Amino acid sequence: MVDSHRHKGLRQQLVNELKSKGIKDEKILDAFLNIPRHFFLEKTFADWAYKDVAFPIDADQTISQPYTVAIQTALLDVKKGDTILEIGTGSGFQACVLYYLGAKVYTIERQKKLFDKTENFLHSIGYGNIRTLFGDGYEGAPRFGPFDKILLTAGAVEIPEKLIAQLKTGGIMVIPLGEGDLQTMLKITKNEDGSLTKEKFGHYRFVPFLKGVQL
Ligand code: SAH
Repeated sequence: MVDSHRHKGLRQQLVNELKSKGIKDEKILDAFLNIPRHFFLEKTFADWAYKDVAFPIDADQTISQPYTVAIQTALLDVKKGDTILEIGTGSGFQACVLYYLGAKVYTIERQKKLFDKTENFLHSIGYGNIRTLFGDGYEGAPRFGPFDKILLTAGAVEIPEKLIAQLKTGGIMVIPLGEGDLQTMLKITKNEDGSLTKEKFGHYRFVPFLKGVQL
């Protein structure tokens, strides 16, 4: 895999585009400037990596649109040392962004083939410290929790209680919520008394959050 000057130039253009769309956090922009997103797509589609669009990857899944990754990351308010659980590893790109920001990252994928491929891939590009888990994200990862932050990258129809239970007090969950094609981006904060504060941040399109695993 080659990361050329041309790719770096394309990344700078993408960063400028994200800035113009309202992404201000320098560390997040820095992640986009430094992580070679074209590695995450099939070689023939490498040039699509730096357009602000979602793109199909293996197993009928998608790598989220850069702007969506940036927004979800911004809403998580990632602090160095945060323990973060991502549901829906997919290409692994979002996990790399979180890792780049200094978080300890656990990520779960339900599709075995995609899981195997992405796990190997993350090692091959030097992101092997991201903990990849094969399983059903509805169950979370209780063995490794509770988490400071939980991020869903698939569209859920309800707030998964088991995941709320794995969130620390004061923790944040970002979850695209809603039936059908369009989800509302929700930021949930778990308060001292166990209550949840919910804030909405616009509409996005996600692949569905499915129950069980696929071998
Ligand atoms: N974060 C990804 C985007 C992935 S798309 C990236 O940066 O590329 C959503 C992913 O969620 C898909 O790979 C899908 O297989 C996975 N998914 C859906 N339901 C799941 C579940 N219950 N547990 C784990 N992963 C799930």
